Order: sequence, then C-alpha cells, then structure tokens
Amino acid sequence: MPVAIFDMDGVLYRGDTVLPHARETLVRLRASGWQVFFATNNSSASRDDYVRRLDRMSLGGDLDHVITSAYATAHYLERLEPRPKDVYVVGADGLRNEIRAVGIAVRDRAATPGLRPPPEAALDGGGDAGAMRRHLVGAELPAAADTVVVGLDLHLTYAVLAEAQRSLLAGARFIASNKDRAYPVEGRLLPGAGSIVGALEIATGRSALCIGKPEPFLFEEAVRRAGPEAGAVVVVGDATDYDIVAAHRIGAIGVLITTGLTPHDAVAGASGDAVPDHVIASLDELFGLPALAGA
Ligand SMILES: [Mg+2]
Repeated sequence: MPVAIFDMDGVLYRGDTVLPHARETLVRLRASGWQVFFATNNSSASRDDYVRRLDRMSLGGDLDHVITSAYATAHYLERLEPRPKDVYVVGADGLRNEIRAVGIAVRDRAATPGLRPPPEAALDGGGDAGAMRRHLVGAELPAAADTVVVGLDLHLTYAVLAEAQRSLLAGARFIASNKDRAYPVEGRLLPGAGSIVGALEIATGRSALCIGKPEPFLFEEAVRRAGPEAGAVVVVGDATDYDIVAAHRIGAIGVLITTGLTPHDAVAGASGDAVPDHVIASLDELFGLPALAGA
C-alpha cells in the first residue's frame, strides 16, 4: 500500500482555514488505497487535539495516523538512558501531556520561579526593570531540571527563559521538539519554536537536539506504522528545508506545495536535499504527478 504523509500547517490549512482541495484530496487518496498520515512539527497540541481538529475540519484521520513532534519527543525521551526524571518544558500543555503520557514527570508551568511578578514589578505596574530583576533574583529555586524540552510557546515570558537557561547551564539535556523559524497562520507568519530554541542556544552557548523535521524521526514513525507492506512514500510539505529534507532522508518523494512557508519564487533557492522532486501550487495538482498515477 502506498503511503502519503502530509505536513499540516500551510498544506492542509492555515489557522482555522482549510486550504482548497484538502478534503477531496484526502478522500480520493484513501479511496485509491493510499495510507494517509499527518505529520506536524507543531508541538503545542496533543495527538488527541489534532484528531479532534482534523475531524472538525472534515479531513479524517485517527490517532494511529497523526504524528506530532510532541509525540515523537516523548518517545525519544522514553528511550533515553538514563531516563529523564524531571523535565522542564518551554512550550504548551500539549507537549507536557505527551511527555507525561509516557510516564515521565514534567513540571507544571505555574511552578516556574518568578513567573508571577508582584504589582510593582509587573509590566503594567510602571515597567520598573530593577523591580523585575530583584523579583527574579529573589525567587526560590528548585533543583535544576535534568532535561529541558523546547517547543512552540505562545505565552513565553522572560522568567520561563531564565529557568530553562539555569537548568541548561547546570547540564540538563537540551531537546527541541522542532526548530521551525515561523508558524504560518491566517494571513501572516508568527514566530516558530525555532526562534525560542535559538534564544536559549544563545543564552547557553549550547545546541539543542532537534526531534522534528528536517530530522527524519516523524516520517520514520509513519513508515514504521504503515507496516512492512508499505510501497512508495510521498511527502507533501510547504517547507523545503524542513519537509523536503526530511522526505529525502527517508528516501521518499518530496512534493513542495506553495501555499505555506515557501512561495514559488523561493523554490529556486533550495539546494541539495532541500530541492523538491515536484512543486505544486494546489493540492489537486498532486494527481497529475507520476507517483500518483491511477489514484
Ligand atoms: Mg508546514
């Protein structure tokens, strides 16, 4: 059975807007016997959240066919020796919950030292930088975490960066669920998890191990689940340096769609593994590709 792996943001939807032909494309592939997987670097939601979201958008898919960087990160941590015992997450609760689901203890975000400044140190309390500094320095500190995991965090604060930096400087493992530079949403880009990872890499002089694309872990998991009978593997993504590189690392056909992070005029800038095998402007063009002949 051939396998199609779809990136999600910028390919099937942007924010809450389903992109043209997404539904028909998935229906047609499944009807032609393709196994359809969803693989996203976005770490802010759990797989359950994604299944509900896919259902709400009428795109189908179940837990077995959704692979997120949060899920892959949790399973990476689970296999480490020694196993992490105390994880500090810079990211959303979706990421915390996936790690807890494999039996590893994760601190609550609310336990971050200095997270809640007193009124005189709060930004709307006059913006006294001295008061905020004294508040952070005076906060009671727990032992450093043994592992710091970083993902997309839409509520990032300086106190959170400070706590991650402290554990990393004390020697914690440094894992990034992904290093995406941007997060494509309705009509604009927002900063991606990579911008937060980058801040901590600079703050510590260390480099995070990345689990998400362009590393091959997510796609490898999809192929593993497809089983030994898996035939051709086609990856559809919107980022040459993430989706297409990861596709080529597992020997798949990499199809770039220009509805997300990579506009058509930027494709020529790709080199090496990032050069897509095919470029399409819309999902319905997928069926004109040789690998999908007969679908
Ligand atoms: Mg994408």
